[in-house]
Order: sequence, then C-alpha cells, then structure tokens
Amino acid sequence: MKEQIKKAFADHFGGEGILFVSPGRFNLIGEHTDYNGGFVFPGAIDKVIMADIRPNGTDRCRVYSLDLNETAEFGLREEDAPEQQWARYVFGVCREVIKRGGKVEGFDAVFAGNVPLGAGLSSSAALESCFANALNDLFNDNRFPKMELAKIGQSTEHNYCGVNCGIMDQFASVHGKKDHLMRLDCRSGEFEYFPIKLDGYKLVLVDSRVKHELVDSPYNKRRESCERVAKKLGVETLRDADMDMLNAIKDQISEEDYKRAEYVIGEKQRVLDVCDALLKGDLETVGKRMYETHEGLSKLYEVSCEELDYLNDIAKECGVSGSRIMGGGFGGCTVNLVKDELYDNFIETAKRKFNERYGHEPKIYPVIVSDGSRRYVEE
Ligand code: ADP
Ligand code: MG
Repeated sequence: MKEQIKKAFADHFGGEGILFVSPGRFNLIGEHTDYNGGFVFPGAIDKVIMADIRPNGTDRCRVYSLDLNETAEFGLREEDAPEQQWARYVFGVCREVIKRGGKVEGFDAVFAGNVPLGAGLSSSAALESCFANALNDLFNDNRFPKMELAKIGQSTEHNYCGVNCGIMDQFASVHGKKDHLMRLDCRSGEFEYFPIKLDGYKLVLVDSRVKHELVDSPYNKRRESCERVAKKLGVETLRDADMDMLNAIKDQISEEDYKRAEYVIGEKQRVLDVCDALLKGDLETVGKRMYETHEGLSKLYEVSCEELDYLNDIAKECGVSGSRIMGGGFGGCTVNLVKDELYDNFIETAKRKFNERYGHEPKIYPVIVSDGSRRYVEE
C-alpha cells in the first residue's frame, strides 16, 4: 500500500509528502454502553488508512483517493464543502481543526486504506484520525492533545457526514497501543490501558457481510428506553443503576424497557469483570462474559439478527471460548476468542456452514492489536 501511495503522489503532485497512518478498531466488550455513561473496551487493529500529505503553499486542498480513483479539490471555508462523501470526512476534519483555533493551510494528499468499509471496524474514524493527526503535526506543532483529535473526528461525523456517533471509534483509533486494550469511561472521558496477552488464544472477527436496514430507528428507540428508565430511577444515566434499583420499579415500567435496562446494567459489570479477568490471564472468564453479552444483545436488547445468532451458535458448537455481536447489531461482525488448537476448525466450519445457509462466506479478520494514529515509520 505504501509504495502505491507514494507512486500515486509522485504521479499526481510530483515529489513526495509525509506519510501518516491511523487504524480501524475492534471492541472486546461494552456494547450500547456509551450513551448510557458506561464503559467500552476497544483496541486498535492492524488495518489502517494511510495518507501521504504535503503542504502546497496555497489555500486549497487537493486530495486523491487511491481506492476510489477520485480527486477532490476544495478550499478551507465553510462554504467550500466538497460533493463527494469521502472527501467530506477530510474537509470536515480541516474545518473542525480551524473551528478550534488551529491552523490549516492548503495541502496535497493521496490516501488509501485496508480497513473494510462499513464492516463495523470504523474505516471512517481511521480516515478522520489520520488527517486530524497529520494536520496537528504539519500545521500545529502537535499542540492538540490526542483526545481533542478524537473529538475533531467525532464532530466531523456529526457536522459534515450526518452520523450521530459516540466517541469510541475515534478515541480508539487515536490512542491505540500495540498489545493493549483501552477501557474508556464514557462519562468522565478517562481511560486506562490493559495489556492483552493472548497466550494460547486468538481473537478473530467474523464478518457476516449482512446489514439489515430497519424501517423504524431501533437505535433511537433503545436510547429512549434507557433514558425513560434512568428518569424513572432519578439518575443521570443507567451507569448509576443496579438490578435492585431496577427491580424496585419493575411494575412501573414496560416489560420492554425493563429488558433494555437489564442488559445495560449487566453489560456495565461485564466490562469490569473482563478487565479483571484479563489482568489475571483468565481468558475463559473473558469468553464467558462475551457469550453473556451476545445473549443479552440478542434476547434483552434485541439488536441481533438470524445470521449473527447463527454465527454465535457455530462458535459454541466449535468450542470457541467467547463469541458475541460486535457493534450496534442487525449485521456486521462477531468477535471471537478462540483457543489456538480450535482455530482452524472454527474458521473452516463457520465459512462452510454460513455459506450453506446464506449463500456467501463470512469474511475473516484476525485481530492484531496495534498502535494508534502516528507518522508512518518503516517497521
Ligand atoms: P465504517 O463502519 O467502516 O466506519 P462508515 O459508513 O462510517 O463505515 O464509513 C465509510 C466511509 O468512509 C466510506 O463510504 C467512505 O466515504 C469513507 N472511507 C473509508 N475508507 C475509505 C477509503 N479507503 N477510501 C475512500 N474513502 C473511504
Ligand atoms: Mg464509521
């Protein structure tokens, strides 16, 4: 990828720029917890967006997307927003840096990536973080702290791409650290690194390659349920609730709201349990909690689908230690914790059985926990 980018840069603009990379992410556990003030537990992966960038001494930006073979050219004022969706991510990052008092001048850039698009690994966050980090480095003496770079990416999604996302994806892309996961407290914004030693195990994502578009907005409905229960309990978010509190108001809320809150309260504890278990090297407990999360997302939060439940069943049959839906639900990937000796059989079985039932094989992405946004250095 690096060679292709450098060649494209030379062809388009002549000479060379400075290379930056930023990864996609996975999330071991902590799903639908962000808007409930709870914890998430992501890590950066080895799939990245890479960009070659060079200031061009003008007030215009020329950006070439190698994967799409398209160029966008835009100025840096609010009214200069480009048409192409992909270019709005880059433009948005420029604007958000400027809005925060940062400096951005014209530049030429070529970028490409190997984060699969729309699979739930956050290619968009990788793209935003890559440019946010580059602009911070090239024009601002790295004066923006990392968390601010993550927020620049998040605001880009909100203000220029119409995606009302939380902070996890950009946070993880920017802060990623090789062989470490990060437990982020979504309420305080504080986080902690946890080493992840997978002796005898592998983490692997199985991408169902399905995405069910639903008529009503299940995401907003889940959110509303959580907010209703929190209000009834007189707490800010479900982060402050426990099962005793929930049971005390059981007959005052709908059965549906009860189930949603039961999941969220359970999930908060499961993230904490998984962190403890990791520190002890107890990967079997990590796996058990992952299965519990799947069960909760499927039966209580009701954001699973047939294909994801099927992948979960296959994992169980193959003796996989832990498996669950990753991401919002209704499609995308499962994340799986598998003993080395069971790995090949699991992958082969998942591909074959899924294909037999749904007519296509899932995609397999082994998880290699990697560093976050950075200048590219030869490894
Ligand atoms: P994801 O879950 O992968 O973040 P999104 O729909 O949020 O999915 O973001 C995908 C969008 O990000 C693409 O439609 C495109 O606009 C942009 N994007 C991501 N990766 C690339 C790439 N390699 N080249 C061009 N655009 C990309
Ligand atoms: Mg995205």
